Amino acid sequence: MLVDSHCHLFHCYNFVEEHILKKIEEDFSYLVNIAIDDKEIRRLIKEQFKSKVIKNAIGLYPEQARSFNKEKANEFLRYFDELDVIAIGETGIDFHWDYGDVKIQEALFRFQIELSIEKNLPLLIHSREAFNDTFRILKEYKFYKPFVLHCFGYGVNEAERFLELDSIFSFAGNVTYPKAEELRRVLKLIPLDRILLETDAPYLAPQKVRGEKNSPFNIKYTYEFVSEFLQIEKTKFEKIIEKNFERIFILS
Ligand SMILES: [Zn+2]
Repeated sequence: MLVDSHCHLFHCYNFVEEHILKKIEEDFSYLVNIAIDDKEIRRLIKEQFKSKVIKNAIGLYPEQARSFNKEKANEFLRYFDELDVIAIGETGIDFHWDYGDVKIQEALFRFQIELSIEKNLPLLIHSREAFNDTFRILKEYKFYKPFVLHCFGYGVNEAERFLELDSIFSFAGNVTYPKAEELRRVLKLIPLDRILLETDAPYLAPQKVRGEKNSPFNIKYTYEFVSEFLQIEKTKFEKIIEKNFERIFILS
């Protein structure tokens, strides 16, 4: 059975119809649906997926940093009374887009880091063109639950630093791209029990369906590719990923 540890169902489908839910139940043991702003979180609370497979993660994406204030923080806290949540995120620092300077983004990031520690929930981290600041901030905290570096996109040097912090590395479809050699060097370096796979659907479709709108079901291509690359039999590899997921999100 497959696990997609990071996707955005609300960006994939206008409405998650019954037949999609059914297929998710058939193919996956777990799928983490990420809601990244107030609008999406409220929609999630309203629609609540009737599925044992779909797990909720809620966070305020770096894009929300400029509008973040005390009122927003309190509002975010209230969501936890209305929804079962298995992780906080995605949150982090992104200098690729203009989401505000480091101070502005850091305040929102720290709010969610501290909340994840307080609530004893894993944290899902988005870090783009911001290794130094992401690392500096994370290093300051003592985490009881691991944090997941979603769609890991840095090189070997950065991965080695993150390994010191007990991070979990989640690889997306871009690891299958022909030019992603450095990312595959990272993949080889990471201990198996610290790897997760994700689609980040509808973004980053794996090579086989590249150019199309991604869907969680395409995770099978990433599984195929990574298990072959690491020379692990596919079913065995699926079990390893599932166990990792359960250890991080479900059992502890
Ligand atoms: Zn995402």
